[in-house]
Amino acid sequence: MTTVIDRLAQVQDRIAAACTAAGRPVQSVTLLAVSKTFAADAVREAFGGGQRSFGENYVQEALDKIAALADLRGQLEWHLIGPLQSNKTRPVAAAFDWVQSVDRLKTAQRLSEQRPAGLAPLQICLQVNISGEASKSGLLPAELLAVAQAVAALPQLRLRGLMAIPEPTADLVAQRAPHRALRELLALLNAAGLALDTLSMGMSADLEAAVAEGATLVRVGTAIFGGRTPAPAA
Ligand SMILES: *Cc1c(COP(=O)(O)O)cnc(C)c1O
Repeated sequence: MTTVIDRLAQVQDRIAAACTAAGRPVQSVTLLAVSKTFAADAVREAFGGGQRSFGENYVQEALDKIAALADLRGQLEWHLIGPLQSNKTRPVAAAFDWVQSVDRLKTAQRLSEQRPAGLAPLQICLQVNISGEASKSGLLPAELLAVAQAVAALPQLRLRGLMAIPEPTADLVAQRAPHRALRELLALLNAAGLALDTLSMGMSADLEAAVAEGATLVRVGTAIFGGRTPAPAA
């Protein structure tokens, strides 16, 4: 039987091979294990395999899991990568280390106001609608600079970079285009005076394309934990 630890090692090998192919140091890419829909025990198993950063999509599910793993809290880094409604920002500001799915200034302002004073600043990525899909959440490239400048000025947040979920395609060449576009947007923001270091892109099916285009953080669920049954209600 293939275990979470076996699959984790396989994903680490994929990342290392993609880094080598791109002439990048292996340490330049962080693996975020996306544990949504999987129980706290699965996170604990991955932790046993050396994994420290975990991504969650559904706020209530994540809060329950973070509480169930309170004994490991100081060693784990929790990232919210799913949609965040503005009425749920308060518990998120208190429980998470990162929020990668910020797509409006108002959400960022609330997170900054609600981040408890005793904690380190909340690490933030702005989510970009990189494939231009009408149904997808995320900022449009045209509105990105103004929002990024405003978010970077908020006291209890630290703006780190950009996150995107490109439209899925099996073609390896086509997979690179949206990742390249996100990298170029990050460069544009940095040229405008921001100091951003995080490109969160690449999932189970396209992490090689993302690493080739400069991803610094890949978000991998299925390839580590296996297939998901339908998501619980948010
Ligand atoms: C679920 C999810 C992932 C992981 O996707 P896999 O295809 O299972 O690797 C990554 N990023 C986001 C935003 C997700 O919602």
